[in-house]
Amino acid sequence: MSDTVATSSKPPKKAKGPTPFMVQYLDLKSQHPDALLFFRMGDFYELFFDDAVRAAEILDITLTARGEHDGKPIPMAGVPYHAAESYLARLIKSGERVSICEQVETPEEARKRGSKSLVKRDLVRIVTPGTITEDTLLSPRQGQALVAVAFAAGGAEAALAACDISTGGFELVELTPDEITEALAARPVSELLLTDSDSERPSLLMALAANSAPVTTRPASTSKPATGERLLKQTFKLDTLDGLGSFSRAELAACGVLLDYLSLTQAGEEIRLDRPIRKVARQGLAIDAATRASLEIERSVNGGRQQTLLAAIDRTLTAPGARLLSARLTRPEFDRETIEARLDSVAFCLSEPDCRERLRQHLKAVPDPERARSRLRLGRGGPRDLAAIASALRGGEACVAELARHGLGLPSELDAACSAMTLSVQPELARLASDLDKALAEDLPALAREGGFVATGWDAALDEARHLRADSRQVILELQQSYIELTEIQTLKIKFNNVLGYFVDVPARQADKLLQRPLADTFIHRQTLASNVRFSTETLSELAGKISRAEDSAKARERDIFEGFCARVERLSEPLAAAGLALAELDVATANAEWAAAGDGTRPELVDEPIFLAEGLRHPVVEAALRRDGQGFTANDVTLDARGETAARLAVVTGPNMAGKSTYLRQACHAVILAQAGMYVPARRLRMGLVDKVFSRVGASDDLARGRSTFMVEMVETAAILNQATKHSFVILDEVGRGTSTYDGLAIAWAAVEHLHNVNGSRALFATHYHELTGLADELPHASNLSLRAKDWNGELIFLHEIHPGAADRSYGVQVAKLAGLPTRAVKRAQQVLKQLEAKAGAVETLPLFAAMDAADAADEDITKPAPDPARALLESVEPDELSPREALDLIYRLKALGVAE
Ligand code: ATP
Repeated sequence: MSDTVATSSKPPKKAKGPTPFMVQYLDLKSQHPDALLFFRMGDFYELFFDDAVRAAEILDITLTARGEHDGKPIPMAGVPYHAAESYLARLIKSGERVSICEQVETPEEARKRGSKSLVKRDLVRIVTPGTITEDTLLSPRQGQALVAVAFAAGGAEAALAACDISTGGFELVELTPDEITEALAARPVSELLLTDSDSERPSLLMALAANSAPVTTRPASTSKPATGERLLKQTFKLDTLDGLGSFSRAELAACGVLLDYLSLTQAGEEIRLDRPIRKVARQGLAIDAATRASLEIERSVNGGRQQTLLAAIDRTLTAPGARLLSARLTRPEFDRETIEARLDSVAFCLSEPDCRERLRQHLKAVPDPERARSRLRLGRGGPRDLAAIASALRGGEACVAELARHGLGLPSELDAACSAMTLSVQPELARLASDLDKALAEDLPALAREGGFVATGWDAALDEARHLRADSRQVILELQQSYIELTEIQTLKIKFNNVLGYFVDVPARQADKLLQRPLADTFIHRQTLASNVRFSTETLSELAGKISRAEDSAKARERDIFEGFCARVERLSEPLAAAGLALAELDVATANAEWAAAGDGTRPELVDEPIFLAEGLRHPVVEAALRRDGQGFTANDVTLDARGETAARLAVVTGPNMAGKSTYLRQACHAVILAQAGMYVPARRLRMGLVDKVFSRVGASDDLARGRSTFMVEMVETAAILNQATKHSFVILDEVGRGTSTYDGLAIAWAAVEHLHNVNGSRALFATHYHELTGLADELPHASNLSLRAKDWNGELIFLHEIHPGAADRSYGVQVAKLAGLPTRAVKRAQQVLKQLEAKAGAVETLPLFAAMDAADAADEDITKPAPDPARALLESVEPDELSPREALDLIYRLKALGVAE
């Protein structure tokens, strides 16, 4: 940072007699005081006052000063206009918002109003994490969601309005307040909007604690249903909303918050979104945030994208396809028809390998038409975006031709995709594609105003202007030749620069001639440099005017052509969106077939019975990691039946450390998610009844950042499962109860298994090192024991990773510790201690099983009925109005820990 400015000052209130420039700046800055103001001055965006200091620090750019305000130098920093995107990206990443102010007239136009007139400037956009559209600022294969949450009915009803402004996607989700956390976890939230009056609601505090997206608070007035209704009508140019469906008050409120914010960030420009798709949260497979984190569906525990289920199965070739696959995997379905339709598409692509290969060749060439379309609609696009649309339409056409060879035999999803991509039945789209093919030049600039993107032959007026410009250049060359002959200076040149325009340039030592008559009558002296002298002439000035007019008219013509195409894209936005989605669907179907073909995937058979019968199931992520190391993966069967008829309802999985218990459990959940996302699964066979909620918990994971201890997290999460799982749910619990003393942990694990088996009745796998729990299989009618074995081979431990019926004999913990490199002395000591402990063992075997509970206990606690509400007393002891938000949150944790519903 420069030393020129010792201290920074906040933009002061308008002081007495500030300069007109300062008045303009302060006025624009006051419109969004929280955002850094990028103030356009010529080829730079300048920042002043605190903004300059902050930006200089984040961007590591020079801090200087410009003029004075209130007797102090004004800190200033600037970024070049042409490189602004990369600076913007860094500022947004570090949590800033940026308001962009442009010059809305040229200096010439300003001068017309008076020689000292200030160029007019206005805010054109506020860049926030959730409103980005630039390719350089976005990850191509990942969606983004700007999400507004709002409430109705005094907080009893909620809704979420989510849009991806980079693609135009718009979704409304109706939910209950306690489903908010889960709904947010299922989306790539880049910015979350709340109203100031809602931000203290307990359900939102919980959601905020679980989500790390930046939060923007908006005025409560934006969440009035009437505001939402007005903005929806305005956005979609409708007199009534009936055509879009009947909206709940919460949905309208959420729309109000979202659309009002979009309008604000686009500085009042029209909002360009596709019509909203409406959903009800309960209609999908429910996956809560903790389950999502533990299953590493699209994000690993360390936050990265690698080593996730998505990364392991993703074979998509286009960015929209990648985003669609990610959305399907993060929000799987519960509707059998939808799932079967997707599976039919994959089955078709699998059964036609040649067709699949050719489709993938076409898809490979398809760019990102969704983001291109959205940028063009928002006035932020360029010629390359038009080319992307043309190329996507052509790619779609090639895919349709390929699929057409199969006549009527296409599955419904692919058939619908074909209709959306067939240009011959959509004359306007066909015309757009062919016009773009003809109109666009080979090499395209990024920005329309750079010009030169329209091909010769497309527009007669443009060609004429260009000819004129080219002709004038020829005339200049001819003029240069005539001046050479006239002056006999062979090195004379006609040149151009921004200051002088066109001028005659001669070496200084030959310039004298031109400074004396008669040549001085023609050549007017303009500038003397060390080695050259420059002149103008009347003829040259006339020519320069002609050239500049030709250039202006060529540029204006190109701008008109570009805007004409943008208007057509806007008009055809719906069919273009449908064609883009069709391409993405085709990409996902072919990609999943490709993965299934290479990785022995199989179509899941969906049945009515609540069963999960998997043969030869594998874990795609562990398998891929082992393959990289040249090792094989051992496939295993998983058989569960919630009715307890064809298999156990719940299996207790035991086995040594490192035997593969966690892998075994997670691969079952992954199969549920893949199947209900409409994907093939890594197994020889899978028959399953649809799952309404999937739960996964791993014991002992700290969440210190949120102020909860290992054990508290474990218990809150376990409580959520025992309170919510149904007989259609699928539950895996991995070493629950590990975070406390052995007996406490064992007792809790014991009770959890019993509860799951007797009350929830879900299909469940429970991995544990508490061997005492294996006794439950004899006591509970629909429980069984499974174990993963290891062999002790001459003191060496060999893991087989094979699942077997029955309980494991021991944990081999000490051997695993030895493998991990514990000092020999410590290992020997551990073996001694283990022997002593084993000799004393037996006490826990007397733990009461459910069936053996005291008659008195059993009388007031009939476990087959929902448990009496132990939290009632706690609830009665508090006065809601006296609770602070923090205390309310704590209360919820305590209630969860007590095992009662929120
Ligand atoms: P712990 O009790 O110590 O938590 P665990 O029994 O849960 O261990 P996992 O974490 O599932 O064991 O697996 C340990 C390692 O074993 C995995 O990282 C993987 O390398 C290997 N592994 C697990 N399952 C298999 C399998 N089916 N085939 C081949 N290798 C496997």
